[in-house]
Amino acid sequence: MKKHKSDPRTWGDATKLVRGGLDRSPHGETSEALFLNSGFVYDEPETAERRFAGEDDGYVYGRYGNPTVTMFEQRLALLEGAEACYALASGMASVFGALACQLKAGDHLVASRALFGSCYQVVTSILPRFGIRTTLVDGSDLAAWREAITSETSCVFLETPSNPTLEVIDLEAVCGIARAKGATVVVDNIFATPILQRPLTYGADVVVYSGTKHMDGQGRVLGGAIMSTRKFKEEMLKPFLRHTGPSISPFNAWVLLKGLETMKLRVEAQSRSAQVIAEALAAMPGVTRVLYPHLDSHPQVALSRKQMTLGGTMVTFEVAGGKQKAFNALRHLGIIDISNNLGDAKSLMTHPASTTHRNIGAEARAMMGITDGMLRLSVGLEDTGDLMGDLKQALAA
Ligand SMILES: *Cc1c(COP(=O)(O)O)cnc(C)c1O
Repeated sequence: MKKHKSDPRTWGDATKLVRGGLDRSPHGETSEALFLNSGFVYDEPETAERRFAGEDDGYVYGRYGNPTVTMFEQRLALLEGAEACYALASGMASVFGALACQLKAGDHLVASRALFGSCYQVVTSILPRFGIRTTLVDGSDLAAWREAITSETSCVFLETPSNPTLEVIDLEAVCGIARAKGATVVVDNIFATPILQRPLTYGADVVVYSGTKHMDGQGRVLGGAIMSTRKFKEEMLKPFLRHTGPSISPFNAWVLLKGLETMKLRVEAQSRSAQVIAEALAAMPGVTRVLYPHLDSHPQVALSRKQMTLGGTMVTFEVAGGKQKAFNALRHLGIIDISNNLGDAKSLMTHPASTTHRNIGAEARAMMGITDGMLRLSVGLEDTGDLMGDLKQALAA
């Protein structure tokens, strides 16, 4: 234990990411310890009794908690400025858990329509099976949000910037509309990351993450997290998640803890590179449209500059010639990999219409503005010049 204590909440983000939540064992290990165990033992039967009664907050079982997972949760909560964090097995376990823990048959959910494929399935087909009524709106249209959110609405779900069209939603305005009607706002902040955007400061109630993306950022493990108030975690998340079981593996939480140490460096470097690449793509022959939040031509550039400190690591663009030309460009990539993952140190490119957004169907794709010539690039940590050279030759091929 250090003799001098400083309040972690006063630390800068880089310090929080390296030291937040660190809880060393009596051995004094430098790195966070990996507690790769599922169960716990007790010296006395009374200890077990007290723990199960909630009178002693020690660990009882891996599905309920683990010391490595707790370090990951505390580091993330500190960074986000949230009272509480609940870590889960994947980003989708987090999206579904954050919604299902608070919704019941008859409730009304309003969501933005430009959603990640699996989020779209949860909202439009899985939750309705349990009697939840859902309404989709054009996220950039505040009048549509005002019309859709009524006193009957209990929850609002949105993604900004959205995958893959990088549509930006006015968090402050939508959270204000929802609060006036008493609805809880859940924001999928996966594309922006907590480095670039903090939805809680705009009035969001719950923020969800996929640890798989920028937190790991090196293509190794799945993970996810839900950020909320302490009250929401105790009263909504714990009763639902402890008994339904989407727990994160301690090993994955440990990999993510180590990933967080470098996340700010990676996300900022990747975002700066993405900005340069977006500007270059806009001038490349054969590219008909570039979507990037901080590009002057983005329809909501002023809003995205206000909400996000940098434009993010993702660039979406459209090539003339539809699917055939898009596939041709993918086939000719020499450095960038064809992959639907994102937020990785390795630059990755995918054709959303045939992969991440294939199963939602042509009609839903058209509604979201996903065209056959659209490609989504996740900018990695390689030299920006090498990536631009690769894009140029692949598009010219
Ligand atoms: C990847 C992703 C998810 C799901 O995260 P997983 O860890 O893959 O389950 C949810 N929302 C968005 C916007 C994503 O990009």
